[in-house]
Amino acid sequence: MVRGCTENGYGGRAAEAVLEIYREYGLWLEERENYFACVPGCHTCCTVSVTATAVEAGIAAEFIGVKRLRRLMEGVRLPAADGLESANAIAAACLEGRWEDHCPEHDFSPCPFLGQGRCSIYPVRPFGCRAFFSRVPCGKAGAAEVEPWFVSLNLMVQQVIEHLSRGRGWGRFVDLMREEAGVGGGPSCRCAVMPAVMVPPWELVILRPYAERIMAVVAFDPELTAVLHSAFRQR
Ligand code: SF4
Repeated sequence: MVRGCTENGYGGRAAEAVLEIYREYGLWLEERENYFACVPGCHTCCTVSVTATAVEAGIAAEFIGVKRLRRLMEGVRLPAADGLESANAIAAACLEGRWEDHCPEHDFSPCPFLGQGRCSIYPVRPFGCRAFFSRVPCGKAGAAEVEPWFVSLNLMVQQVIEHLSRGRGWGRFVDLMREEAGVGGGPSCRCAVMPAVMVPPWELVILRPYAERIMAVVAFDPELTAVLHSAFRQR
């Protein structure tokens, strides 16, 4: 349990489940020691373009505290984030055949929570930050490199976290944190339900062990359990 983020705190059961998913993801990564090139102090991926759910922003805000958060956010001024769509909105559009691939502009400005090359809110950073990894040093390569199944895993976890936050805000983490601080900002859209697991059939067998862990965490949510079950338990 992250200090300050208790069962009775912001987000209640959804927040508890999100924290448990973070923990399971961390354990899963520990089992793959030396698999990634990422090292402490590397922060190429720490930009203002990281996205999150309002539940995740609430967890982070509770951890940081209102006064400190307001101090951190007061001077942050950013152009509006246009064209952002959440993972479940994209999944629904794909399933309905109305998805048009477009890449929203990425703002590479450094994240305001970055301090001396390190994340100042590391224990409560959102999943969008946790999912950034690379098999090669991305500073040298110019971009991160990972296997397709790892992208699928991260998409699935993002979809699950969004479902747990359904009806709440979704957008850039920094915009959600500005809103938490009461200094502007706000979500780009609302979190949507997870319509299906967007993992190709040949990757389901690779992801099943982690999906089983997630299913145990979200067993209290029958709708989410049914979606995951239909993808992973019938093959
Ligand atoms: S919250 Fe932390 S890990 Fe995430 S982008 Fe900001 S500094 Fe990096």
